[in-house]
Amino acid sequence: MKLLEYMARDVFDAHDIPSTSGVIAGSVEELKNLAPDLLYPMVIKAQVQTGGRGKAGGVKFADTANEFIQKGKEILGMTIKGLTVEKVFCYPKVDIDREMYLSFTLDRKTKLPVMIFSPEGGVEINEIAEKNPEKLVKQIIPAGGKLDDFFIRYAIDKTGLEEELAGQFTEICRKLYDAFIGHDCMLAEINPLIVDPEGKLLALDSKVDIDDNSLYRHPEMLPYKNEMTSDATVREARSFDFLFIPVKDEGNIAVISNGSGMIMSTIDLISKNGMDVTCALDLGGGATSDRIKEALRIVASRENVDTIFINIFGGITRCDEIAGGIDAAMANLGETRLMVRLEGTNKEAGLKRLKSLKGNIRIVEGLDEGVAALAEEVKA
Ligand code: GDP
Ligand code: MN
Repeated sequence: MKLLEYMARDVFDAHDIPSTSGVIAGSVEELKNLAPDLLYPMVIKAQVQTGGRGKAGGVKFADTANEFIQKGKEILGMTIKGLTVEKVFCYPKVDIDREMYLSFTLDRKTKLPVMIFSPEGGVEINEIAEKNPEKLVKQIIPAGGKLDDFFIRYAIDKTGLEEELAGQFTEICRKLYDAFIGHDCMLAEINPLIVDPEGKLLALDSKVDIDDNSLYRHPEMLPYKNEMTSDATVREARSFDFLFIPVKDEGNIAVISNGSGMIMSTIDLISKNGMDVTCALDLGGGATSDRIKEALRIVASRENVDTIFINIFGGITRCDEIAGGIDAAMANLGETRLMVRLEGTNKEAGLKRLKSLKGNIRIVEGLDEGVAALAEEVKA
């Protein structure tokens, strides 16, 4: 998950990396409310998940409150590399003597962290590599434990970084490495890492990419993840720990199943038979009747869904629980057609309950028969 700059600032703060603190605005109204109390000149920055915002006009300076509102307005709604700016991050402008580059990322070949430093930063890393390759240090860090000081020393010596900056630089390297490891990052980058006129080092930009598979270890990041998902159904499903997958806008069939393999094969088979799946929801393992009820409600509320195909292979998930959830949801599903295939644990009890239900529901045996029956119904 690539964090927006202001979110990455929170990660930096958690590791005590010196950076600028600021405010966030998402509308002209908010810009106007903030404007009177700011310390000018201010920097206004587009919050999008890409670099090169400066070059694209997404970083502006404002000397007065009026200018702040005006320029903020210009940036909000702007498109940068195909991404719409919905928020700006603003902080008091800092005087810059020099811009440097520092990052930790993963080296694919050795599968180890790599530290990358250049005393000439500001521009993107590939540009630095092209123009000043001799000023770029790439240092593989052995797995486990802390960042040994001799790696930092090597970077200082190789690039000829001034001794006066060595102490602060060492501190920031250690902290950024801690952030990289502690937050399970794919990337933790400061560009520019600036030297101000007093010789102080400061992170003026923050880029953090957290491994999605580790997000469960960082629950404080979940609100950020939701904020970056524009699809409301995806957000709602996630709040119940379901995985909701939008498939095809023009489809009319929704698939509910347990496990990504089941989801994929069900979608494939339905598509192969000339029908269009619009979305799918993965229940995960051990779904209870309450959760099935929520899953059905979420999926049924999705635009264009007129048929829900439920394909369950019960292992941990019990078929009678599924049937109970369907029973509880039925009253609120309106005209939505249900097709249900149950297999596995407590199948008989589940089927018995389903057969007692009234409404637009059809029980099918096996996936092939199910999809054939679906074709019959949908194409009728
Ligand atoms: P990016 O282009 O997306 O990487 O956005 P950055 O946050 O790195 O900002 C781009 C450039 O704007 C930086 O390299 C700086 O040159 C400039 N900039 C950002 N903040 C300040 C600031 O506080 N003072 C000054 N003088 N320049 C800034
Ligand atoms: Mn930058």
